[in-house]
Amino acid sequence: MPTRYDVSRDELAAILDGEARFRVDQVWRGLYEQRAELDELTALPKALRQRLAHDLPSALTLVTEQVSDDGDTVKFLWALDDGARVETVLMLYPDRATVCVSSQAGCAMGCGFCATGQAGFERHLTIGEIVEQVVRSMQRAERVDRRVSNVVFMGMGEPMANEDRVWSAVERLHDDLGLSARHITISTVGIVPGIRKLATRPLPVNLAVSLHAANDALRDQLVPINRRYPLAEVIDACNAYLAVRNRRVSFEWALIDGVNDRASDARELSVLCKRLRPAAHVNLIPLNPTPGYSTRGTPAARVRAFRDELIALGANATVRRNRGTEIDAACGQLAAGHPVTLTPKRG
Ligand code: SAH
Ligand code: SF4
Repeated sequence: MPTRYDVSRDELAAILDGEARFRVDQVWRGLYEQRAELDELTALPKALRQRLAHDLPSALTLVTEQVSDDGDTVKFLWALDDGARVETVLMLYPDRATVCVSSQAGCAMGCGFCATGQAGFERHLTIGEIVEQVVRSMQRAERVDRRVSNVVFMGMGEPMANEDRVWSAVERLHDDLGLSARHITISTVGIVPGIRKLATRPLPVNLAVSLHAANDALRDQLVPINRRYPLAEVIDACNAYLAVRNRRVSFEWALIDGVNDRASDARELSVLCKRLRPAAHVNLIPLNPTPGYSTRGTPAARVRAFRDELIALGANATVRRNRGTEIDAACGQLAAGHPVTLTPKRG
């Protein structure tokens, strides 16, 4: 059964067949502008409200909501209709909010340092399951007087392995929820056909590539899909995206103690950054601990030194705050409660 944010406007019209034509607009606005519960749409006759609430169920049932000690990070754990679980993280800033959404339940890419990768793949999320994560986060942000301005696909799953549905969700976020494409970021482990497909899509979203290693030998170990799509092909695909979109690509780099935080790593990374036109921006984050990976994240002083080395080499780099580590809410390690089924690969 499709959920309320799965259906297109035409599909909604079919469900409302026999009702006055203006009801389609009314319900669509209720879902996307008011972001109200269907049975709260009091402009509709009560019987219709009840039928819609039944025919168009919500996709997400809240299991837990955890708030970080400082109150700035909220993590939602949702149950889907088949029992699969996914997480969404809402990050509150003084004047706005960012939502980190999941695109799959689990992930098939098997990056050993990632809690989602350790848990393995369950299934793709539907359009409605993705969009509703944003709607529910918007409702939550409104309660504390914040407006969601940014969406990042950095939760569970590999968005470019579910590209069609992710793209349809992006269109809903843009067309119906009113988010700017420039405030939507898709993060990929480097699925080359997905990046090339993105270059054919009309909206100028941001692209982030989770690099973590700047030579194929190390990246083959950290990010197993590199054996299929090696660095040179990833770089070419990024340049194809940049050729059609007036955007900058960012490289995500989770710093792992003694593994990818050496002076040689900074040198190799700075060279790769400059192979993109315009040059890539590096986002550094110390690795968050996960149950299936024992090497620790780079200590804070070395993180800063690594950033300074990159900058001295002419690359752009920023250290990202590890948000909500105490509630396991850092994006990309959102699999709390999932059984660990894969043996982690060690770098
Ligand atoms: N599959 C996509 C998007 C989800 S992961 C991707 O890999 O890009 C979002 C980000 O979190 C990625 O950059 C990922 O490499 C990073 N990540 C995964 N596990 C992490 C950990 N334990 N600590 C820090 N970052 C991590
Ligand atoms: Fe999947 Fe991204 Fe985690 Fe790798 S880092 S296992 S691609 S979610």
